[in-house]
Amino acid sequence: MDSIGILGLGIIGSAWAERYASAGRLGGVWNRSVKADQPGWQESPEAVVRACPVVQVVVADPAAVQGILDRILPALKPGKTLIQSSTIDPESSERFEALVRATGAAYVEAPFTGSKPAAAAGKTVFFLGGDEAAITAVEPLLACLSETRFRVGSVRQAASIKLAMNLNLAIQMEGFVESLSFARRAGISDDLYFQILSRNMGHSPLIDLKEPKLRQGDFSPQFSVKHMAKDTRLASAAAGGSVYPLLEAVRERLAGAEAQGLGDADYCALLQLLEG
Ligand code: NAP
Repeated sequence: MDSIGILGLGIIGSAWAERYASAGRLGGVWNRSVKADQPGWQESPEAVVRACPVVQVVVADPAAVQGILDRILPALKPGKTLIQSSTIDPESSERFEALVRATGAAYVEAPFTGSKPAAAAGKTVFFLGGDEAAITAVEPLLACLSETRFRVGSVRQAASIKLAMNLNLAIQMEGFVESLSFARRAGISDDLYFQILSRNMGHSPLIDLKEPKLRQGDFSPQFSVKHMAKDTRLASAAAGGSVYPLLEAVRERLAGAEAQGLGDADYCALLQLLEG
């Protein structure tokens, strides 16, 4: 199996780099802010591309991916593969695929769900789009990070299903924190609230993941407000504006949370807009 490089050592990229390193597959890492103590550290993204046949990008947004591509395109060539895992919009995904393929390198769109705990546990779920042969070639590497991988079709479709998943999650989160706040205002304890919710149709894995954080008021990020805000902006723009009323409502809530300085908090901090 090939070695792989990671560009972007945020919450997810750091966890993935550790998993690739444990599997003996990590060929290099780079991050915009220097993290020279990281195993496999390289001085530039170009150096990672030169060192590894496969490189996986996991950074904030389309602009960040474009900035990295501007640097690495000259180093990409036939035999190299770029896996793009940042959450981006379908149009950017198609543009990036064209830029990379023009160098002779292969491009796989591979957005994912599963936040920090899933990334650390090898339980990331990938949505794979693009050239089938390129996907087949990188699947053994992605298996170091994931048990479940869906082949979705084109790169546009892979980017779209990711935004569709986050549209649902963002709306669920707003509903969940409104429900919790409503119960708290009625004097109902969190113990009783979560006991009842665990037997209710509205129960979900999202609630299991966020229950301890909300009970303890721990808003350290597993997935941040700023990225969920970005995803709802991208989904809204991709949909062509105000097509989906709940998406628009939660996009505004998340923008409000960012404006209140909660951008780096976990997106369950939407509760703080209700409770202060
Ligand atoms: P994060 O912790 O905020 O890290 C963001 C990364 O992007 C950092 O490495 C940051 O570098 C880099 N970056 C930001 N702007 C850049 C630029 N202009 N040029 C180069 N690098 C730049 O984010 P994360 O939670 O790991 O998420 C990464 C991506 O995965 C995002 O697209 C997010 O939406 C998606 N995602 C995250 C989760 C999750 O649960 N966390 C789940 C699914 C999808 P610096 O260190 O220099 O700032």
